[in-house]
Amino acid sequence: MSDEKQASTWQRVCPSAAWQHPTLRSIAAYLDHPDTQSALRGHELARTYPGDVVSRLFELGLGEVLAGEPGGAGALQTYHHSFAVLERLASASGSLGIIIGVNVLALGTVCMGAQAPLRQRICADLGQGRMCAIVLSEWARGSDLRSTQSRAEPGVLDAQGAFTVVPAGGTPTHYRITGTKDLINGGRTNHWLITLVRVDGEDSPGGLTLLAVPRDQSVVVTRRWTTLPAPAADISSIEYAGTVVPAENLVGAVGGGLRLVMYRVARARGGISVLAAGTTHRAVQLTEDYLHSRELHGQALYKYPALVEHMHRLEAIDLAVASLSAKTALAMSSPRIEPAYITAVAKLACCSWAERAVDEGRRVLSSRALLEEEPFTRLVRDVLLYSVFDGTRHVVLAQLAKYVRQLVDPKESPADVLLRDAVGQDPVRWHDAPLPRLARPTVPALAAHLDWLADHAGRCQSVAAALGQLAHHLETAIGTLVAQGRWKDQALAFPAAEAATHLEMGAALLGFGHGPCRDALGLPEVAASRAHDDLLVDTGAAMLGMAAAELLLQLNPDTAPALTPVMGCLAQAHADALQAVIQTYPRR
Ligand SMILES: Cc1cc2nc3c(=O)[nH]c(=O)nc-3n(C[C@H](O)[C@H](O)[C@H](O)COP(=O)(O)OP(=O)(O)OC[C@H]3O[C@@H](n4cnc5c(N)ncnc54)[C@H](O)[C@@H]3O)c2cc1C
Repeated sequence: MSDEKQASTWQRVCPSAAWQHPTLRSIAAYLDHPDTQSALRGHELARTYPGDVVSRLFELGLGEVLAGEPGGAGALQTYHHSFAVLERLASASGSLGIIIGVNVLALGTVCMGAQAPLRQRICADLGQGRMCAIVLSEWARGSDLRSTQSRAEPGVLDAQGAFTVVPAGGTPTHYRITGTKDLINGGRTNHWLITLVRVDGEDSPGGLTLLAVPRDQSVVVTRRWTTLPAPAADISSIEYAGTVVPAENLVGAVGGGLRLVMYRVARARGGISVLAAGTTHRAVQLTEDYLHSRELHGQALYKYPALVEHMHRLEAIDLAVASLSAKTALAMSSPRIEPAYITAVAKLACCSWAERAVDEGRRVLSSRALLEEEPFTRLVRDVLLYSVFDGTRHVVLAQLAKYVRQLVDPKESPADVLLRDAVGQDPVRWHDAPLPRLARPTVPALAAHLDWLADHAGRCQSVAAALGQLAHHLETAIGTLVAQGRWKDQALAFPAAEAATHLEMGAALLGFGHGPCRDALGLPEVAASRAHDDLLVDTGAAMLGMAAAELLLQLNPDTAPALTPVMGCLAQAHADALQAVIQTYPRR
């Protein structure tokens, strides 16, 4: 990116200038280059691993962003830096986004759990391009990590280097691993395999352990999977055929692996929101280019109101996804915010709305969105992945349902107070953090925050106020379900949790994508703000509010009389914004 005018949507709304660091700029310029894009397209079509591109990224300093100096302070290891790289990677190629993204998750566990020498060794290796994989899943067990079957026997090596098991109570110097792991990103290529096992003798359901396994000949790749999304990525199954690692390779305590994984996965979910943001931004670019590239019946495509409508909705969703992802990065950067709630919200909302965004573009590109030779097709495939890994949609909804019930009786300061504090703070560096005691996730009052945003929303006041009213209805609905003892019913709690994600995204869209609310929050101005940003905010907020309202009606059809005027206000805002856009399009 040469200047702010060319910035992506996420870069425009991100309150940090991390993406402008020279290393990140040179990575972004390389990814934008037509030769790189053509190389990546070739790999995706041929389903070959983009090793040449990955090597070049490390030459350009990717290792500095991922691993920093061994033992050093880690200037580039803020969430803003890692999000900024992931956004550019996903925009260029979903395969590349996950090939590199997995290192942040895997190294995060190492930085929190491993002893200094192991950690320094892995950081040094990663800095040189020897990447890490996170090795959890087993085919038959899916998300149920507690039932992990891969095992590690504690033992010692004799003078000849042969492994013998130590009896219970003995002190092992080594562990011998057996078992099969499936669907592992980097399972064939990556050097460090951060692996979840059950150590013999640790029989409690959660008593699992993480070991850092350097790849050797005892790690057998049993198959490479052919995936619909991210076809150039290496998604493989591996078998440990008696792999022996020293006890110094423990990542965290014996029996403490699952807690470490859950802690890091909660943060990795924030990172997936920015993969979604990179994808939606690319969808905007390709759809806009297409509208300007053809004529039909003697008239430019961009003259057709129906196509402009899709384009506008796509841009509105792109701004909403970018705003929530940027807000998540800021929340994760704050030492005062435990981000498991906002990252779950961001994972669900950004991934599902990115699917909708790509769908809007797909309707414009029609046949061109279904041809492997055309660039848009990869977005149609890639976007399906984000809701599935690092917690399927239902796994994340189940977790979010536990947090969302706190909305009824919020214990935290309002979001506007927390965010304003976060702006001025020295950001958390994920690289150096020890594993803390698991704190209760920060769940700020949603309805009160939306009311506050409405007071500062200027031109977008009516949509902001409507979102606030919906949030009050949601809090009432949750309170009723909890009081009736029906909150354990997924058919009720999941729609309520999902409605909260739409409204939280609306709050992020206003707070981060709308100038007057940004000013009120003390965020820097939107980089290169555009005249039609207010229309995007109106449309995005209206779409999010309508989605939330439908779920509220599903929860309690009796609320229809109260919800109808709110829905009418949102529908009017949507229609007005579309009319204004159609009259002024194209803007180029
Ligand atoms: C491209 C790709 C890359 C991957 N990379 C990795 C990797 O690097 N490392 C790794 O370890 N794994 C990886 N995985 C595996 C991924 O994490 C698993 O696919 C995931 O855990 C889900 O497992 P599953 O699809 O078998 O679904 P399951 O967990 O078996 O779930 C089955 C169904 O039940 C639903 N469900 C689950 N829990 C609940 C609940 N509490 N309430 C209601 N419904 C529920 C699910 O949403 C799903 O619909 C990858 C997968 C893919 C596709």
